[in-house]
Amino acid sequence: MQSMLKVIHLCSGYGPLRVLHGISMNVQKGEIVALLGANGAGKSTLLKTIAGLELPQEGRIQLEDRDLAGWPAHRIAAQGLALVPEGRGLFPGMSVLENLRMGGYAQKIRGAEMALRVDQACERFPDLKAKLQDRAGSLSGGQQQMLALARALTGSPRVLLLDEPSTGLAPLLVAAMFNQIRQLRDSGLAIVLAEQNVQGALRVADRAYVLKNGRVVMNGPAKDLMDSDEVRQTYLGQ
Ligand code: ATP
Repeated sequence: MQSMLKVIHLCSGYGPLRVLHGISMNVQKGEIVALLGANGAGKSTLLKTIAGLELPQEGRIQLEDRDLAGWPAHRIAAQGLALVPEGRGLFPGMSVLENLRMGGYAQKIRGAEMALRVDQACERFPDLKAKLQDRAGSLSGGQQQMLALARALTGSPRVLLLDEPSTGLAPLLVAAMFNQIRQLRDSGLAIVLAEQNVQGALRVADRAYVLKNGRVVMNGPAKDLMDSDEVRQTYLGQ
């Protein structure tokens, strides 16, 4: 298996506040890794730090063989790492098409190449096709989540970080979202999936890391975590 993303003893936070205390994890090509943990455990902070939106205080972040720690977000995006942030991060006043185009901005994808990427996005997400000229803010919650994912894909990332993609979606749409994520994994992406929906995430993931107060307290194959009494009691209420 080819390692795509490796995080080594990462510490991060906000100003003097330290939120992550030495996180290590790795993600292989063609693998979905779930990031689990209660509210405030540090999942979003970890994803934002990997994507370059927060500066690491200590530690290393490697995309394949490159050390990215301290790089600005646009350079990290240009290396093939995309984040779909919590709350989706769309530009609600801009059209669906304009939002899609923004996804290729850091990679300098323009003109005919961008038109091709937009066609590919419409193939993968047929709902978006008829709405290319609509304002992103006018889409339903499910369509906005699909647009956020489609936008990340227009840059052809090799590593995809997803922050709570199922939040606010009806169960059928959650299933559709997880199906898309599975297909992307099967096409060779390395995916990190931060989720409050522990059961759903463990079903779709290959492996998982459980965070608590900014530390990894458990990790292993998703199936093993699903069978673990601790995970069942703490996160699944069983
Ligand atoms: P959630 O599911 O609620 O997003 P999370 O596991 O993603 O939870 P984080 O959002 O990473 O957790 O938050 C971790 C800690 O960092 C929390 O204590 C939170 O209050 C704090 N925090 C998050 N963002 C900021 C910020 N911009 N400034 C200061 N503290 C922050």
